[in-house]
Amino acid sequence: MQKISIAIHGGAGTILKEEITPAVEQAYLQGLREAIAQGYAVLENGGSAVEAVKTAVAVLEDNILFNAGRGSVFTKEGMHEMDAAIMEGKNLGAGAVAGVRNIRNPINLAFAVMQHSEHVLLSGKGANDFAVKEGFAIEQDEYFFSQFRYDQWQQMKDGDRYSLDHNSSPANIASEKKFGTVGAVACDVNGDMAAATSTGGMTNKNYGRIGDSPLIGIGTYANNKTCAISCTGHGEPFIKAVAAYDVSCLVEYKGMSLQEAMNEVVNNKLPKLQGEGGMIGVDAAGNISLLFNSAGMYRGAKSSEGTDFVSIYR
Ligand code: ASP
Repeated sequence: MQKISIAIHGGAGTILKEEITPAVEQAYLQGLREAIAQGYAVLENGGSAVEAVKTAVAVLEDNILFNAGRGSVFTKEGMHEMDAAIMEGKNLGAGAVAGVRNIRNPINLAFAVMQHSEHVLLSGKGANDFAVKEGFAIEQDEYFFSQFRYDQWQQMKDGDRYSLDHNSSPANIASEKKFGTVGAVACDVNGDMAAATSTGGMTNKNYGRIGDSPLIGIGTYANNKTCAISCTGHGEPFIKAVAAYDVSCLVEYKGMSLQEAMNEVVNNKLPKLQGEGGMIGVDAAGNISLLFNSAGMYRGAKSSEGTDFVSIYR
């Protein structure tokens, strides 16, 4: 029988273990559990992998703790510019948006691009105009305000530094590099796979900066022949490494297992490019893999063969 499975991440930039309070740790773990529960419920009810990943990512986008949707970080200009992508492995259907503003669930907009447009990637004003045409509600800036991200941005905004950091204490902002993004991969009852990724990007990023997350084959990729992958980490090295597609290629052309291929990219290729971060993947047999070269990665997985966990650190 086909194994159904889902894996999620909430970013490879975690609060350092020595800084996290038990209450905050529980809040993150609970957020991950909710996303898994809702995504897995779709699969359990016979729903498609693409519906499952869209559902799980939207739950994380609605949770202010994660750097995507509502909890997105501030750009250098004090705005929120969000990127998201979704891909279906069965037909290589793909949709993505970059630099969108005031959209509650960018992953739903990426899905609409896939379903209702001739395009794969829409950016900026064009993406926002498409959202309006599609009937998406536009949120006010206040919806995306969170005090701790605002404080982080205040610490950085007068300098040229940008950071993937989304939740370190002010004392550590200057020295730590952290990440924030959410993503999901799934394999459904038909053996179809899908991947979805959504992010607010990096604190104090230049306006117009686009990371790896919305780029098909880089932060997000799904192909029924090989695997589905969602990445998190320092976007620029991931772009240079063509990270997600490289995993797929290693599976397709080198015959590696998903785990071997992800290990090669996360622990060998990316470090050579100073590519700190991680990724989650699933293959056609429903096998799940979650790997990172950073201090931690908010993550979790559930399958019909008994996998069921959420975790932050190693
Ligand atoms: N990869 C994302 C970006 O560079 C950030 C992250 O995953 O935390 O925008």
